[in-house]
Amino acid sequence: MRPDIPQHEAERLEAVQQTGLLGTTEHPELDNLTDLVQQIFQVEMVAISLVAEQHQWFCSSVGLHTSKTSREISFCGHVIASGESLYVPDTLSDPRFQHNPLVTGEPYLRSYAGQPLYDGQGHLLGTLCLLDTHPRTYSASEQQQHASFTRQAQALVQRFLDQRQLAQEQQRYAGALERYRTILEEAAAGVIRINQDGIILGVNRFAEKLFGYEPDELLGQNVKVLMPGDIASHHDDYLAAFLAGKPPSIIGKGRQVTGRDKQGHPIPVHLAVSRLSQATNNEVEFIGVLSDLTDLIATREQLQQQSKLLEVLHKGLTDYHALMSGNRLWRFLEEGLRTLTGSKYALIGEVPEGSSSLKIHAITDLSWDQSSRKLLAQLESHQMLLHDPNTMLGQVFAGGKTVITNDFPRDPRRGGQPAGHPALTNYVGVPIKDEGRVIGMFAFANSDETFDEELVAHLEPYTATCALLIKLYRQMHEREQVLGELAQEKERAERASQAKNEFLSAMSHELRTPLNSVLGYAQLMQNSKKHPLPERQQQQARQIYKSGEHLLSLINEVLNLAKIEAGHVSVSMEPIWLHTVADDAVQTMQTLAEQADIRLIHQPEYLPQIQVSVDYTRFKQVLINLLSNAIKYNQPGGEVELKWQTDVDEQVTLVVRDTGIGIPAARQAELFQPFNRLGAENTAIEGTGVGLAITRTLVEQMEGELTFQSEEGTGSTFSVSLPILESRGTTSANFVEQPIAQPLPEPNSLTLQILYIEDNPANQQLMQDIFADYPQIHLTCTHDAKIGLALAREHQPDLILLDINLPGLDGYGALKLARQDPKLQHTRIAALSANALAKDQRKGLAAGFDHYLTKPLDVNELLTIVQQLEQGCDPE
Ligand code: ADP
Repeated sequence: MRPDIPQHEAERLEAVQQTGLLGTTEHPELDNLTDLVQQIFQVEMVAISLVAEQHQWFCSSVGLHTSKTSREISFCGHVIASGESLYVPDTLSDPRFQHNPLVTGEPYLRSYAGQPLYDGQGHLLGTLCLLDTHPRTYSASEQQQHASFTRQAQALVQRFLDQRQLAQEQQRYAGALERYRTILEEAAAGVIRINQDGIILGVNRFAEKLFGYEPDELLGQNVKVLMPGDIASHHDDYLAAFLAGKPPSIIGKGRQVTGRDKQGHPIPVHLAVSRLSQATNNEVEFIGVLSDLTDLIATREQLQQQSKLLEVLHKGLTDYHALMSGNRLWRFLEEGLRTLTGSKYALIGEVPEGSSSLKIHAITDLSWDQSSRKLLAQLESHQMLLHDPNTMLGQVFAGGKTVITNDFPRDPRRGGQPAGHPALTNYVGVPIKDEGRVIGMFAFANSDETFDEELVAHLEPYTATCALLIKLYRQMHEREQVLGELAQEKERAERASQAKNEFLSAMSHELRTPLNSVLGYAQLMQNSKKHPLPERQQQQARQIYKSGEHLLSLINEVLNLAKIEAGHVSVSMEPIWLHTVADDAVQTMQTLAEQADIRLIHQPEYLPQIQVSVDYTRFKQVLINLLSNAIKYNQPGGEVELKWQTDVDEQVTLVVRDTGIGIPAARQAELFQPFNRLGAENTAIEGTGVGLAITRTLVEQMEGELTFQSEEGTGSTFSVSLPILESRGTTSANFVEQPIAQPLPEPNSLTLQILYIEDNPANQQLMQDIFADYPQIHLTCTHDAKIGLALAREHQPDLILLDINLPGLDGYGALKLARQDPKLQHTRIAALSANALAKDQRKGLAAGFDHYLTKPLDVNELLTIVQQLEQGCDPE
């Protein structure tokens, strides 16, 4: 019969496992007990059995040949199942066991006695069992004895258990101890244990290293060796006071203190001391935990230094302009350098480009007498440069080396110093470089600190900033210089331009005088009533007139160019029908085209009538420029066409197309550059290279746009787009050429007196010829203004024509006298002058002239004034 499984079996099995006895034998104390039990009870076999999940284990036994049997067939399993002792006097007569293999086979058990065996927590572990191969009964006292032996076994098992747990605890403790020891040893903090007399009992490696001691060297020494003298001398008193109950200042708290290493150097540390409560022998012990603050403090100092440095650099850069304009930049940098390095003296200087000498910009005043003061002033005002490459400065600015010395007087590199020069103790000179070239240097001397490479490295940002500032300074100087030169250049150019303008207006004035005759006579020849010319000569006269007029416009253009270049061109826009101006331009160009054997195509009858807003003269100039280029840069037999078409957006595009030489694509970008002739300067074609530049400016001034397309060898097309004012579709009629001068109406009975004051006989003659056809007009000429005024007072003329540039009293003087004269103040006076600029006209009208006529004289204009006088109406 199988034994049942008891309740809480899992816990019980865990407890069995915990005994540590499963799988073990050879336990002398248990074995003594089982021996004793066997002898007392005189049984064949005794065992202490532990019942595990599948089997029972005999951790101590006598007479048995095995250490374990299956739980299924075990007798003890029944004790476990019931929790009570089991006595089987004869197994063969007990139906539970008579077929048990332990009964029917080895070891042929005939009797069994088992008492339950518990652990300290009450878990049932197994039994102490007595076995025999013959039947046996146990008296009540025997059973009690059996139970007491079982308790004995139980105590032994428990002791085994306790010992085992103790061993485990000890192992754990040893592990923990080892870990603590490692932590202490490896800690990044120093740990020192002292007794109440201050004797060091323990110290970790960190602390030893921190103070520069060999391992164990500190053990047994008084902790005072780790303190600076003044603190060490008070330490014993301090400990005594604490032990006597005075409130502690470090114990139980932590704070920054200064320690002393083996060499006697101070070390900043953070120290926290605690009193060890469980000191042995009733002695008080203290444990101190120290951390090394050297790095922290160094970092803090470095940070402070850096922020100082940054402050200097920041101010240098942000206030650069202010500092520069007040010339305080260098002084500022010199002062900054002294603060940064804690030095008494500093200097900063520049190595001028291409030299190896030093121009000092700022230097601490270390003068000691009159002459040294003068020397410093000379240095700072750049009257004197330093050149010697063999001094402590020279090795830096000429040699490009960083020089550091902490023992200036004995440094072999030092050169001589003038007598009276303050003694230098230590010195650093640093070159300021830009792309490897020395552009300046700074130096400082006499500091309490020791100078080293690290300091120079720390000053790196300062050096870089100095390099930047020196470059800025140079650029600023260069710029100032260039600006100065530019200003001079500009002034020169302005003077030249003014001289040129004066020359041009003088020249145009000179040209106008002879042109006056040319144009005047050409008009006369066309219109002479008395001696009309034959048609052919009239044609010639017309040509003379046209060419003269073109010459006049050329003169005007020269003035124009001068004005454009001076930046003030004025356009007076008015509504103009395109065909009028186009016709005019084409006619002007006709002769040129014929001479060049170019067919000039212009068929206004097929073009829409378009009105645009332009300045007539200037727009004609635009067309003439484009047409003349199209003719000039063409080939004999080629053609030039002028036409226009309307665009969708209320625009008209006027096109001058030619079949000429075209413009190479590579040079098209230069087309509108003034004076750039794109290679035409090497040909026989005449030109200045200014035409297109003026043309485009003019078109743009008239709110138009000039574009072009060109192909080398095929031809070019220049287009001018303009906004349309009005359009009327095409015209089929040819435009009638306007007569050049309107003939005067039939002679009137009224006679007119005209006085012409003019010093140029040719002009006087022209005027007489103009009026020769009109007997009702009496013209009197005089060359002098004063005489003229006298004549006027006497004859009271209807009109005085007054030249402006007269010898002696000029036109304006004469006008003024006339206007003050009661007899003449209402006389009509017209100026007739070669000063033909708009401003001259304005000036004249403002001065009181009734009319301002310009030379060359527009006969029509003059005749119109005269005609209106005749009709008695105000010509205005
Ligand atoms: P200019 O004719 O006095 O040299 P422009 O300013 O009118 O000056 O023209 C500049 C240059 O552009 C000319 O020298 C010529 O090389 C080129 N160019 C102008 N118009 C034409 C054209 N219709 N065909 C070919 N080349 C031209």
